[in-house]
Amino acid sequence: MKAVGLHPDVIVVTSRFWQTTCTLVKSGEEAFMVDSPVLPDELELLPAVAEQSGFRVVGRVATHADWDHLLGGYSFPDAPLAAAETSAARLRNEPGAAQRELREFDDEHYVERPGPLSLPTPQMLPVPGHLAIGEHELELHPADGHTADGMAVLIPWAAVLVCGDYLSPVEIPWISADGSASAYLATLDRLEPLVGRVEHVVPGHGTVIGAERALAILREDRAYLHALVEQGADAPLPLARRTGAQRKIHAENVSRVA
Ligand SMILES: [Zn+2]
Repeated sequence: MKAVGLHPDVIVVTSRFWQTTCTLVKSGEEAFMVDSPVLPDELELLPAVAEQSGFRVVGRVATHADWDHLLGGYSFPDAPLAAAETSAARLRNEPGAAQRELREFDDEHYVERPGPLSLPTPQMLPVPGHLAIGEHELELHPADGHTADGMAVLIPWAAVLVCGDYLSPVEIPWISADGSASAYLATLDRLEPLVGRVEHVVPGHGTVIGAERALAILREDRAYLHALVEQGADAPLPLARRTGAQRKIHAENVSRVA
């Protein structure tokens, strides 16, 4: 697990699995954990990382309701969970789905957890909207399309955008079963001016990137999605993301837009 300080109030840790990111953000005496690393040792280490840096984690936030972003309960079992109304609805409508998918992942990769995933009913956050933290406010912006739910979290005083599963340097746009290419494109349109307001973008998967690189990825992703809708399987993948794993995601996307 890699930890990077982006600002005195922002630390990003990146999981060894899927390069899943987790952002710690603080203001005054309060800190939140946004999303989560994936592996048990990383989740176990996180409280020490937070404490050493003076981050007192009092709440957990998920950018969306995919299981790999919901594991913070292993690190901070007492911190309540908050999520966009759309994510809370998804968790309510698919009870046990995150736990089941986590179990399938753990079975496949021989991963042992200290116990089952506890997933409290999340506090619902109105999106677009604001979330108070210490002396500051986080900005919440809708970010759906990858899935039917989700939000991007802007940390204005630190000039950081935590965007969920968009703008990834390692993953092409992924249209999940409940996602949609048109919603994804609309989210990219919404993210563009937000990227213009920050120095760093934290994608759900992959390394932290600067605003300029994020804008370049945004344009590539937009071009890919337009091509996907028009050409299906023949759509060219973004140049730096043409691995076997990304081709599999592409094949899935083709079936979604067909
Ligand atoms: Zn994800």
